[in-house]
Amino acid sequence: MSLEVFNFCPRCAQPMQDRSLRDDSGIDLVRRACPDDACGFVQWGNPTPAVGALVEHEGRMILARGAGWPEGWFALITGYLEGKEDPKAGVVREVKEEIGLDVQEAHLIGNYIFERKNEIMLCYHAIATGTLRLGPEIVEVKYHAPHELKPWPRATGFAVADWMTSRGLAFEFLDFPGRPPDPKPATSPGTPK
Ligand SMILES: [Zn+2]
Repeated sequence: MSLEVFNFCPRCAQPMQDRSLRDDSGIDLVRRACPDDACGFVQWGNPTPAVGALVEHEGRMILARGAGWPEGWFALITGYLEGKEDPKAGVVREVKEEIGLDVQEAHLIGNYIFERKNEIMLCYHAIATGTLRLGPEIVEVKYHAPHELKPWPRATGFAVADWMTSRGLAFEFLDFPGRPPDPKPATSPGTPK
């Protein structure tokens, strides 16, 4: 979920307010919150976890172009976790749904914030077998030798860079062609500088 702002409390429907709240360490935080203390709803704005898979198939790495993406934009296989789903199971499911392959091994590369979408990307190197078959969310894939990968300088790109570093591969960051710059991240008034 992105950082959408609630105008009304999703629990009791009263108009939400910016309220100063003291956290456990005694720091005042300003958050959108319900004015009714008996309700107590606070929009904390926690990042949403999602999985990203750098898929290896027969020794080469797969990057995919999502439906509706511009020409030339390729990325990891990504998706949101289902409720209570183990992240590795999420990787297996997303790879099967999006490109039809069976993940045999999934190794955590690391966890990366994607600020624009307020998501934490749990990124895995996924070794997969089977026959490629594109699901409705993917229009095209490209195969690359591991040393040919060009990570973008955000979120899942940092995972690719870390994976390449772990293999002793040199890399250069490269942004998506024609991609507009990120908007300035919103900082809430209570965030310590
Ligand atoms: Zn409320």
